[in-house]
Amino acid sequence: MGKVIGSLRELFRRLPPDGSTRHLLRSFNLGMSGRGSPPSVKELAENLGFDVYLVDLPNEIRGRLIADPFSENGYSIEVNRNDSVVVRRWTVLHEIMHFLLHRNDDPFAPAMHRAGAEHFYDREEQQQERDANLSVEALIFGDGALEAAISLFGRDIAALCKHFGVSSRVMEISLAKLNR
Ligand SMILES: [Zn+2]
Repeated sequence: MGKVIGSLRELFRRLPPDGSTRHLLRSFNLGMSGRGSPPSVKELAENLGFDVYLVDLPNEIRGRLIADPFSENGYSIEVNRNDSVVVRRWTVLHEIMHFLLHRNDDPFAPAMHRAGAEHFYDREEQQQERDANLSVEALIFGDGALEAAISLFGRDIAALCKHFGVSSRVMEISLAKLNR
């Protein structure tokens, strides 16, 4: 059970050996296993050194990672303010994963990693999109968090969505993977 959902260990294998980043991600994941509200993604992002902004973006764009010399880690995350809270939460985590796994430190590179409609991307970008989303999935549901929540709430989609702070679409996909 749970083999299809990625683990933090797999994610950590790909990250630079930065103890503070690992600690923050691990704590976030552990927070998903508790009974309380889901941990704040804004707090996670800010602790990782990002500034996070709610902005007006075109409908098909969820958010983007932009170089920002004024933020602590050199990047800001812009999130489409017109999206629902659960979609915005996913967007912030998605952009964090692009930063950790795919960023290009060229200061003249354009804003990158618009989380949006799939046709927007070339082949390499599509691969990075899947990679970012699978990594977010591991962060939220991995290392026993999904199984722990099911033991508390059963497979009640609404309760699970509230517990994890995700959309019902995300929840259904992850439950389906667990069943495989
Ligand atoms: Zn993306």
